[in-house]
Amino acid sequence: MSFIAIVGVLFFLLFVAIAAYFVSKQKSPQEDPPTPDMMIHTSGIYSIVRKSPREDFQRLRPDENALKQYVKEQSVDLGGRTITDSDRKRIVADWASAIERNIAEIETGDFKSCDFYYYEFTGTDDVCAGFIEKGSFVTREEIFRHPELVPPFHAGCTCVLHGYYGTDNPRETTMLGMKPFFGENVNLPPLPDWKNIQKPE
Ligand SMILES: [Zn+2]
Repeated sequence: MSFIAIVGVLFFLLFVAIAAYFVSKQKSPQEDPPTPDMMIHTSGIYSIVRKSPREDFQRLRPDENALKQYVKEQSVDLGGRTITDSDRKRIVADWASAIERNIAEIETGDFKSCDFYYYEFTGTDDVCAGFIEKGSFVTREEIFRHPELVPPFHAGCTCVLHGYYGTDNPRETTMLGMKPFFGENVNLPPLPDWKNIQKPE
């Protein structure tokens, strides 16, 4: 092969390399910037966000025995009402079923890709009053970051989380009482202490 032919081949290869470089450079700005939603889905965080809060819950709240022991030693609830033995039994039984109900609601929501959950009350709850308003909502990501957002919050708590399956974003809805639990704040708002007792109705 003559010298000129070798130079020609080298120039050709250099040209191909430069062309490939520019083509690859041009491509990247054309891609859409990822939205926070896409980032959750593509970065691998998605699977973590959808992790059941069950384990966290066991770490954050007293177990049934600890609660049983605690209510055994208490004679009145937050409102000064006498707690009877049957109240104590109810409180402990309701505690276990409330945990199951709320965790199941989130696990079902994860299965259906539910992104918003709102608070409801199944009965009187003077302990949660002042902390949580009926209809205020949290996102699935907020629950992931703060598993303590899952009720029950305290002995005799009647607060429950419901998955929000409306087609609109609850942040933009005009539905009465729907407002973000976090408001403008990024920090976790205060929540009731589990040792406050609401006597069962
Ligand atoms: Zn409560």
